[in-house]
Amino acid sequence: MSDVIAGLSLSDLVVERVGFGIFVLDRDMNVLMWNRFMQDHSGLSEERVVGSSIFASFPELPRVWLTRKLESVFQLGSFAFSSWEQRPYLFKFDHDRPITGGVDYMQQDLTFMPLTRNREVVAVCVTISDVTHVSIMQREREEAVAKLQEYADRDGLTGIANRRYFEMRLRDEYTRWQRYGGDLSVLLFDLDHFKRINDQFGHMVGDAVLRVMAQRVAATVRAQDVFGRFGGEEFALLLPCTPLADAMCVAEKIRHAIADAPVDVQGVQVPVTASVGGASARVGVSAYEALINEADAALYSAKRQGRNRSVAFS
Ligand code: GH3
Ligand code: MG
Ligand code: MG
Repeated sequence: MSDVIAGLSLSDLVVERVGFGIFVLDRDMNVLMWNRFMQDHSGLSEERVVGSSIFASFPELPRVWLTRKLESVFQLGSFAFSSWEQRPYLFKFDHDRPITGGVDYMQQDLTFMPLTRNREVVAVCVTISDVTHVSIMQREREEAVAKLQEYADRDGLTGIANRRYFEMRLRDEYTRWQRYGGDLSVLLFDLDHFKRINDQFGHMVGDAVLRVMAQRVAATVRAQDVFGRFGGEEFALLLPCTPLADAMCVAEKIRHAIADAPVDVQGVQVPVTASVGGASARVGVSAYEALINEADAALYSAKRQGRNRSVAFS
């Protein structure tokens, strides 16, 4: 056996056994070669496919895209690529992953390799790698990041926005207000004598009251408002495009939503009231923190005046 023949049979063997798809097309899109991987996954034998147009065997292929890709390799003589992120697959091959992975067909990375003879591209070799596992991992990672992002913005007990997220949104809205003007109000509210509730009913009931309370208030606010837990039993509501007078109407609505009916915690009726302080962005108030401080001062005033009331900063 000559070295040439031995070399050929060895490379034939490699092409046959390798774990990715290899096929060769001429300029008229006729198939010149079709390896075992392609046979196994397409169900079409080498004899069926080789010698005729790839579109005769696979009419569902994206004809315009594939023809253009091939043509560019013939013309430029350089490699071309296609990643699963641009086009998830060329061939509708089954994958061997559980259905739960969320992908329909084998995800494919493609390489288009020019085969040149005397500096002329005579054919293009296409390789297909199964990257289904990569795409599933990527998808899972994206979902996990989105979930973490969501958790990072939420308060664990009540599920509403946490203070960090609230302040971020307040800063954004405040900057917008500084640039474009309009109205921007903030309400701060604090449950009255909450220590007593904890002392009388226990901390678990106290927690349940906070949860129910947050749900009640969340149900009354508009989608563009930001409702957040500011501290222990202190909450904040950001009201874009809302003048102070309107904000104080919202304050009263919230106060009633909290106080009008006792919170039922497993049959125990817990009466709850809240005090609310409101403030609006004004020219001369230079930072969003000042807005919080003013709302806090109004809240303090509501407490001093006897609680279960709302007071506007003046
Ligand atoms: P005031 O009317 O002046 O607000 O009286 P208060 O008793 O509510 O006073 P303060 O705001 O100083 O105390 C808040 C209490 O809320 C203290 C703490 O025990 C309780 N608290 C804070 N965070 C939580 C929580 O996450 N769960 C429970 N159950 N209680 C909390
Ligand atoms: Mg309190
Ligand atoms: Mg408090």
